[in-house]
Amino acid sequence: MTDRTIAEIGEAELIARFAERAIAPFPEVIVENGDDAAAFLPRNGLAVVTTTDALVEGVHFELYFSDPRSVGRKLVSVNLSDLAAMGAEPRYMLLSACLPRSTPLRVVEGIAEGVRSRCAEFRVHLFGGNVSRTSGPIVLSATLLGEIAPDRVMTRRGSVAGDAIWVTGSLGDARAGLELVRTGKRDEALTRALVDPTPRVAEGIGLAKSGLVHAACDLSDGLGRDLRRLLMPLGLGAEIDPRAVPISRALLASGLDPVTTAVEGGEDYELLFTAPIDRRDDLARALGSTALTLIGRVVDRPIFELVEAEGERAPLPGGFDHFAHVEDRR
Ligand SMILES: [Mg+2]
Repeated sequence: MTDRTIAEIGEAELIARFAERAIAPFPEVIVENGDDAAAFLPRNGLAVVTTTDALVEGVHFELYFSDPRSVGRKLVSVNLSDLAAMGAEPRYMLLSACLPRSTPLRVVEGIAEGVRSRCAEFRVHLFGGNVSRTSGPIVLSATLLGEIAPDRVMTRRGSVAGDAIWVTGSLGDARAGLELVRTGKRDEALTRALVDPTPRVAEGIGLAKSGLVHAACDLSDGLGRDLRRLLMPLGLGAEIDPRAVPISRALLASGLDPVTTAVEGGEDYELLFTAPIDRRDDLARALGSTALTLIGRVVDRPIFELVEAEGERAPLPGGFDHFAHVEDRR
């Protein structure tokens, strides 16, 4: 028996697959799903923070190694991660799905189930969207709206020379997962990091509330590249201690070079931020049980280096030139 495809069902039925309500409606929503547009009242005095990100089949995921449910979850997670980097509490989501007529119904149902499960976990209300047919690959795009007190928003500006550089969690697992997939191997933890990453939502909110963070971003393109993005526009650079870069047991056991994999990385969805070096305890408290690691310091010139304990220096991997060669994987 062949799979049923979405060509066999109408658009209304297709939309219903996504729109099925997972959580109670929010009282601030004054026009719901099903109208021409949704409308909501921002809560008292809060700033609305918005972000959008897409997952394209063949570029960001392949259905031969990501199950459809994980694709749906990751679509929400990558957007949650951007809000987390700003410190915002996620609230609402709009979803756009472009699907070829040959898409199996079970794939759409899996994606929709994944979207709903991630939204429910983080109390995000999917309050609108659009489904269209396409002659190309599957394209899933989400727009996420969150709220935060205006004076607490974390941005990429604000680092100063002498700041300590910190990261949450561990780095390089998703990259290692991708390398293993390419060579036909599999490790459960590394594959999960790649196909179903965990956004640091509570951690971002905690850091923003602490008021200690000078600048923050989420790690989507690898530490080497994202750190340059964070500091180069300010004319600043970084010295990173390679032994301090947090590496998971699974990455250590993978046979890949751990520091290079962690620094070149990509799709970690951890938080990278700068803050005063003497506030470790307060920062750790803001993160709850999530690991906090001091990996280096901000310097007053735009040079990015790995500095060994013996003083030996090497360029931090993940510079722009290098990245041009790996761009096609994204
Ligand atoms: Mg980001």
